Amino acid sequence: MKILNLNIFQIIFTIDLIVIGIIRIYFGKHRLKTQYKISINPIIERINSYLVSFGMIYFPLMNILFGYFGKFFIEIPNIFKIISSIIMTIDIIIFYLSHKDLADSWSPFLEIKDKQKLVKTGIYKYIRHPMYLSMWIFAIFEGFVLSNYFIGIFGVLTWANLYFVRVSNEEKMMLDTFGEEYEKYIENTGRLLPKIKKSKKL
Ligand code: SAH
Repeated sequence: MKILNLNIFQIIFTIDLIVIGIIRIYFGKHRLKTQYKISINPIIERINSYLVSFGMIYFPLMNILFGYFGKFFIEIPNIFKIISSIIMTIDIIIFYLSHKDLADSWSPFLEIKDKQKLVKTGIYKYIRHPMYLSMWIFAIFEGFVLSNYFIGIFGVLTWANLYFVRVSNEEKMMLDTFGEEYEKYIENTGRLLPKIKKSKKL
């Protein structure tokens, strides 16, 4: 067992996690406190979120702080770890923007509150799920940064499980709530990457 003998990549990863935690706590305080109009799969959504917390927060921290899962170490070239750390750090900007633009409409689960409006501005002008994009990037690169294939695979699997169970339900919930406005919004945006607009013929 090792205690606090961290390498630079583990330090950067830990700082990234702390910044992410601060963003989450700050915007969590500004969520709509009104009644729910709709809440979908609340129990499954909570279980999936807990699994993601293990895949993307607790297991990586147990590895960094106490050396758990050390037998799943895999040698990763430094250049690859540097690039992965940079990508994960830049990714925090997407994570931050998605919270800032969604503002009080954000919820960690699948629900629509009274007075919730459809956000179509900021980063949401281009993609419908920037927060999930930022989570994908984090899940994919964490195993490389920590040189650990168990953490890499488990993180991606827990995130993929939440994402694929959630995303079509979320879009259906948004369609049911916002109708034509969301239909039009879908036409102009991509799920995770901006839609490439076909040039209009003259
Ligand atoms: N899928 C989005 C938001 C994740 S938070 C993203 O990845 O960025 C999940 C909650 O956000 C859902 O419960 C839903 O109520 C809300 N939501 C998702 N898209 C929204 C939008 N464009 N406008 C307002 N609320 C939205």
